[in-house]
Amino acid sequence: MAKHTIVMIPGDGIGPEVTSSARKVLEAAGLSVEWVELPAGATALEQGYENVLPERTLAAIRAHKVAIKGPVTTPVGKGFRSVNVQLRKALNLYAAVRPVRSMPGIKTRYENVDMVVVRENTEGLYSGIENEVVPGVVTSLKVASESACTRIARYAFRYATKRHRKQITVFHKANIMKMTDGLFLNCSRKIHEEEYPNIDYEEVIIDAGCMKLVQDPTRLDVLLMENLYGDLISDLCAGLVGGLGVVPGSNIGDDAAVFEAVHGSAPDLAGKGVANPLAVIMSGVMMLNHIHEEALARKIKTAYDTVLQEGKTLTRDLGGSAGTAEFTDAIIAKL
Ligand code: NAD
Repeated sequence: MAKHTIVMIPGDGIGPEVTSSARKVLEAAGLSVEWVELPAGATALEQGYENVLPERTLAAIRAHKVAIKGPVTTPVGKGFRSVNVQLRKALNLYAAVRPVRSMPGIKTRYENVDMVVVRENTEGLYSGIENEVVPGVVTSLKVASESACTRIARYAFRYATKRHRKQITVFHKANIMKMTDGLFLNCSRKIHEEEYPNIDYEEVIIDAGCMKLVQDPTRLDVLLMENLYGDLISDLCAGLVGGLGVVPGSNIGDDAAVFEAVHGSAPDLAGKGVANPLAVIMSGVMMLNHIHEEALARKIKTAYDTVLQEGKTLTRDLGGSAGTAEFTDAIIAKL
């Protein structure tokens, strides 16, 4: 096996604990890897970098093209701009891909959930352009460009085709945001009609979409949407299959890819050794598929599916009492 060079960003809060688990599992499965560990987030400032997103970290991802990243903390209502938004823009990681599936042994309201959220990752309301018009009145600018809307639509249809998925549902609010969400819909429709007519295509106003998701998520397949909606819907979908501890993600661009869980830095759990590392381990499996190490990916997936199915060693969020390390060891024991 060729040796891979992969950038490792431990992140803030529970980030170092869960990424270290993922690293152990990937190595125990036999991945031949050289890790380039670099910081981002509040941790970067603590380590003496001037910026929450050091140029050195960005340069390493540009050079090695693949990174696995722990969550980073973003101050609410003040302070520095989101590191994630900056990172995704800087590297043009335009597609957030978040598979959401029912997990073996994890009891939830629905069985057989198998969806993928595809989120536009570079514009929308996350452009971060906010202004005070006059004292007491502020605005936030939602940006939609034909190029970015077309790019994410084409990505979603290509992804659906490759993965033998049948349907794409676009969540939107074009009844209110007629120009921005209207453009998103027009671009999606065009890609469907001109390039992928064989994939079923539907458009659903997002409020009704939320109801449909909660009533019966099993009829949905690939969900395509702009940035903010994708952020919110990802967490909603996580709640349908067992929570944030079991939903992985990737941020994909044409030149680089960064793999990370959907969850945040969970300050309430940081340093306690109780966080569920599975979402980051699953993100690692997505990374293995991306770097064409499919056999290793299958091996790790089988190991954690078995641990979940047995139900003897589960973290607290999944109804067990195991800590991060014990759960990690249980997965490694199955490899
Ligand atoms: P969160 O995802 O960190 O936590 C939400 C809830 O889920 C908490 O109760 C937490 O304990 C639980 N949880 C999250 N991950 C878990 C895990 N692996 N195992 C067990 N329980 C888990 O969301 P939040 O509290 O809204 O945000 C905290 C910080 O994380 C904020 O600063 C936010 O900006 C940041 N954040 C970062 C990312 C990222 O870096 N990709 C994503 C989302 C939020």
